[in-house]
Amino acid sequence: MVAMALVPLTVAVGVAWAAVTDNMFPTESTGSSCVVSTGSHPPCQTDNREVYFYMDSSGEYKLESEDRSTVNAAIDGEYRPTDLAFHYDSSPVFEGSAETDIIYQEGSTGLPDSAAGRTWCNGVSSTHYKCDQQYIRIRGNGRYTYARVCHETGHAVGLQHGDYSTPMLSKTDSRLGCLVTPSTDHNDLGSNNRENINGTY
Ligand SMILES: [Zn+2]
Repeated sequence: MVAMALVPLTVAVGVAWAAVTDNMFPTESTGSSCVVSTGSHPPCQTDNREVYFYMDSSGEYKLESEDRSTVNAAIDGEYRPTDLAFHYDSSPVFEGSAETDIIYQEGSTGLPDSAAGRTWCNGVSSTHYKCDQQYIRIRGNGRYTYARVCHETGHAVGLQHGDYSTPMLSKTDSRLGCLVTPSTDHNDLGSNNRENINGTY
């Protein structure tokens, strides 16, 4: 009993930044290992602070120019001010141990009716809680918004919803910034997510 009571105390003391909640994978609610699946799993960390991204430019999941502008605007506005360094990868790599980190797609195939977008890992890195390549797929027809790019990009670097955070928050708690769900109109990454990113990478 004594040992169990000490665990949360140790975790709390170990948090060296002022974040409202720890919503960076892994948390006490996510399990410790990254799962490769197109289904609904807690999103895991990207493998390092140098984030190479690509936007599908042909085929079924091609981003229109307006969607590409939205992706760039959300990365510029929300993620470049963090400790992550984003680089566009015009020659994406889909195999091996150094895959392009994030692939943005536009489309609805495989998404549940309730979801405007989804992020999933398709290759765990040599470190079990990190992913070598993550896919972000967001519906088209006006739903490829700044807020949703902010939300799904957060997942692609390991950020969780409120119910997978420690301590747990309501999924609609505004302190979760653009990681609130549903991800309709919260454009701001916010200080909690920024501090979790900067404390991790
Ligand atoms: Zn989400």
